[in-house]
Amino acid sequence: MIVELWADDKAAADPAIDAVLDEMRRLDESMSTYKSTSEISAANAKAADAPMHISKELFDLLKTARQYSELTDGAFDITYASVGYLYNFRKHVRPNEAQINKALPAVNYRHVILDDKNQTVFFSQKGVRIDLGGIAKGYAVDCGINVLKARGYTRAFVSAGGDSRIMGDRFGKPWMVGIRDPRKGEGEVITKIPLTDAAMSTSGDYERFFEEDGVRYHHIIDPHTGHSASLVRSATVIGPMAIRTDGLSKTAFVLGPEKAIEIYNRIEDIDAIIVKLDGTVIYSKGLEPAKIRRGATAPPAPSRENY
Ligand code: ADP
Ligand code: MG
Repeated sequence: MIVELWADDKAAADPAIDAVLDEMRRLDESMSTYKSTSEISAANAKAADAPMHISKELFDLLKTARQYSELTDGAFDITYASVGYLYNFRKHVRPNEAQINKALPAVNYRHVILDDKNQTVFFSQKGVRIDLGGIAKGYAVDCGINVLKARGYTRAFVSAGGDSRIMGDRFGKPWMVGIRDPRKGEGEVITKIPLTDAAMSTSGDYERFFEEDGVRYHHIIDPHTGHSASLVRSATVIGPMAIRTDGLSKTAFVLGPEKAIEIYNRIEDIDAIIVKLDGTVIYSKGLEPAKIRRGATAPPAPSRENY
């Protein structure tokens, strides 16, 4: 968790940073499936029995999650957790085929029934579990930025793991972000992108994984198979809000680079950089160097000096 603030008054800035961290903690308390007292854990325990009334905030998040499922042909699906809970990447635990096959019918975002009028969630099947790990960090980053905006700040950077957002610029200059080489150390970048007023999320197969018999098992799950989705090494998505870039960064792993780029290109204000399995890099339309040379309004061409 990183919060950077550009302010004249340090005495006022410290409480502002504390307020962002408080907001992060608040969200973690309600959205983490690791906490048995969270609202999401309550939903997982009870929403298959009867429609359950939930907070407006969780309800809106579930609606957003659904939109991302529709947008990505089901690649993004918070019910991945119906199988996902059987994995423990830290402890190198994974389910066997029989366990996956048993749990898999519960994976389908359509099982999550949202009732706008009553603000309830209902799981239409037993065994359905949801997990917001695929958008919660992005959402928290946006909330953090909003806390600072409300206090009058115009320049800040908030980041939680792979999800970051910058408000404004860095004293007249863009914020230079490096896209990490998925098979090298943290400092090794394949390209740098200048960003102003933007969010960026990276999903990588190097983040939480273990290897067994030469197979890499990592934390993004293909909702159709229940297996770890490995069609790319990393995907970085750039857009206006971190909840959106977070929601889209997993898609490439499940659908593969070409199909994912097609989806990213369809969305007006979204750009992406994908590192394929063979290590080559592909860019969405808005970042294609050729297009930029023609003088389009796209951001400057990514520098490739390190690639
Ligand atoms: P980070 O947790 O560092 O932000 P990602 O943004 O790549 O990493 O999100 C990975 C998380 O997304 C996983 O830990 C899991 O909670 C969740 N997830 C895994 N597979 C899916 C999926 N198919 N759809 C939605 N969320 C997923
Ligand atoms: Mg993320």
